[in-house]
Amino acid sequence: MQRWTMFVSTKMPDYVERDIAAAFDATLNTTGEKLSTEQILKGLEGKQAFFGGVGDKMNADFFAKLPSSVKAVGTYSVGYDHVDVQAAKAKGIAVFHTPEVLTDTVAECCMLLTLSVARRVTESVALMRDWKGWTPLQLNGVEIAGKTMGIFGFGRIGRAIAERARGFRMNVAYSDLNRLPPDLEQGATFYASPEEMMANCDVLVIACNSTPETRGFINRQRLARMRSTAIVVNIARGDIVNDDALIEALQQNKIMGAGLDVFNNEPNYDPRYKTLPNAFILPHIGSSTVEARRRMGQILLEGILALKDGKSARNRLA
Ligand code: NAP
Repeated sequence: MQRWTMFVSTKMPDYVERDIAAAFDATLNTTGEKLSTEQILKGLEGKQAFFGGVGDKMNADFFAKLPSSVKAVGTYSVGYDHVDVQAAKAKGIAVFHTPEVLTDTVAECCMLLTLSVARRVTESVALMRDWKGWTPLQLNGVEIAGKTMGIFGFGRIGRAIAERARGFRMNVAYSDLNRLPPDLEQGATFYASPEEMMANCDVLVIACNSTPETRGFINRQRLARMRSTAIVVNIARGDIVNDDALIEALQQNKIMGAGLDVFNNEPNYDPRYKTLPNAFILPHIGSSTVEARRRMGQILLEGILALKDGKSARNRLA
């Protein structure tokens, strides 16, 4: 059977590019330059598949202008808030993403964020530039053993985080749209009200999808309900947090600190985060391990190849 043609918008790791070239007649982004929507649409002329990423806005306008040759669109991410799945569906275009294969990697990053805030790593790294020596007063952090982690969004990643939190002897609570069955809860305490959970946890982890309901969810009123010793961790999407509210809470020590991997308006995130000693910030590296990156490429390619061969795929959204 003839191979499909594919356009790839973003420079990928070598091992992913090799996998792409093995399965498709691919046009790769070899320069690493960020392409505009217009450049992507032009590149897709005559192509059957698109291999895109979180930086590519695939909204209704994008799907309206998509060349008629395109049958499949893939995003190199599990989150698909940047993809108008309904618009794709209406045009009969299949959409694929990368669930499950990055879950462990992202959950590990969540523990990195949690521990870094609890142990005041931002201040510790700064202190190492001019360290005067050990004292018992130096940068006392908090232990997470025995504390409660409240996870907002108990999906694949949320549950993988819970597994790790239990390993650190934390109590686990969660809030989600629905209560999960006991085999998925694994003893975690369910809160129908996320606000109530926020008032009763020591570490709040945001692990839900970005949707119209969750955008701006972490606001001033909700943060005000949290303990002054609490930590907020965002591993999901920047737009779930209202920056003014979180920065105010951090500046005024209304909470202990925040660990953030994702931001509003990436990469031009709010510069005030850079100045906060109680913020530990990372450049959206949640899924950035060699293992996850390789698997993300593979699952995306497998999904599109399945479509080509008339088969179903577990990572198809539309
Ligand atoms: P998932 O399995 O779909 O889990 C998301 C959970 O959030 C689901 O249980 C969902 O409930 C729940 N949820 C949705 N809306 C909610 C609301 N209003 N209130 C409470 N819970 C709500 O997805 P996942 O694989 O765990 O990924 C979660 C998110 O992590 C992704 O959407 C992505 O944005 C983010 N992510 C970030 C990185 C990174 O690099 N930092 C990497 C990977 C993923 P339902 O299933 O009932 O809708």
